Amino acid sequence: MNKLRIPGYHIDIEKAAQLINRKGYKKVMLQIPEGLKTHASKIADIIEKATQATTLISADPCFGACDLLNHEIHSLNMDLIIHIGHLPIPEIKNPGTPTLFINAKSTRPIKNVVEKAMPLLEGKKIGLTTTAQHIHTLNKIKKILLEKNFKPVIGTGDKRIAEKGQILGCNFSTATVIRDKVDSFLFIGSGNFHPLGLMLTTKKTVIAADPYTNTVKKEELKMLKDKILRQRYAAIIQSKEAKQFAILITTKTGQQRIELAYTIKKMLNKQNKKAYILVLDNLSSTKLQGFSQIDCFISTACPRIAIDDHMQYKKPIITPPELEIILGKRTWDEYILDQILSK
Ligand code: SF4
Repeated sequence: MNKLRIPGYHIDIEKAAQLINRKGYKKVMLQIPEGLKTHASKIADIIEKATQATTLISADPCFGACDLLNHEIHSLNMDLIIHIGHLPIPEIKNPGTPTLFINAKSTRPIKNVVEKAMPLLEGKKIGLTTTAQHIHTLNKIKKILLEKNFKPVIGTGDKRIAEKGQILGCNFSTATVIRDKVDSFLFIGSGNFHPLGLMLTTKKTVIAADPYTNTVKKEELKMLKDKILRQRYAAIIQSKEAKQFAILITTKTGQQRIELAYTIKKMLNKQNKKAYILVLDNLSSTKLQGFSQIDCFISTACPRIAIDDHMQYKKPIITPPELEIILGKRTWDEYILDQILSK
């Protein structure tokens, strides 16, 4: 079987081929996150060469394990979905097409970047967190820290979290569970959202170490956090005078919070505000353009959307905890990031 070679990642595509052959599957679909789509054809080639299965590729965006393709591909009668790049969300029971999750594991060395981060760490008790790509490196990082007399702590998350120490942009339960036992957090991974979420959720200092760029961040994160809080404060102030609200829910299995949408609608109606529930699959600003009568959108979908993409929306888009501030049920000092926690 041809080896899949993607610089910086190990993706165990052999595992998918073995399953397809063992089960005699004939039609499979690949679901790949944006960053890896450039390798989709290579992955499909390998599967088709090693098995009898025709491989379709989902071209829709895929942001997380919350996004199972059950409804969308039902009529295509696929035998298997191969979901690449995320760990499953254990709590989500998949009633549809069987889905095989294959992680895209980072092959970058971590020792150097962890050593770079060490002088920035506060205290000796260090909470360790990371994303799916680096989860297999946590024990090694723990050992490196122990050798330098740090006391690393790795938390167990709720039922939406597959591995100890793993965080999602919508779930920081592995960190909150150890918040009171650590002095600061070390996050291993790329991008700003996860370490910022970690800061906002735990209220502790976070040092981010990125094995892909071999860089570490601390002060920059604090500045970014302040910037985001200013943006969120502005969105809240802007929404205070809103008369008509739209509560957005997605049909994506792992992001769908219809009960929360009903609760929010009742809450708004009680305060004599009009509220409508809008249903979408992928949330985007263009899909909402026609709803010009709406003054404020409340997203119950992926909590990252309101924070990361707010500039794309013409009207303010806020999270459920931010609405609580508008309705006087929470103070600004009690600001929290929206999370999708285990039911
Ligand atoms: S809801 Fe958002 S942050 Fe959570 S798993 Fe899905 S895409 Fe990731």
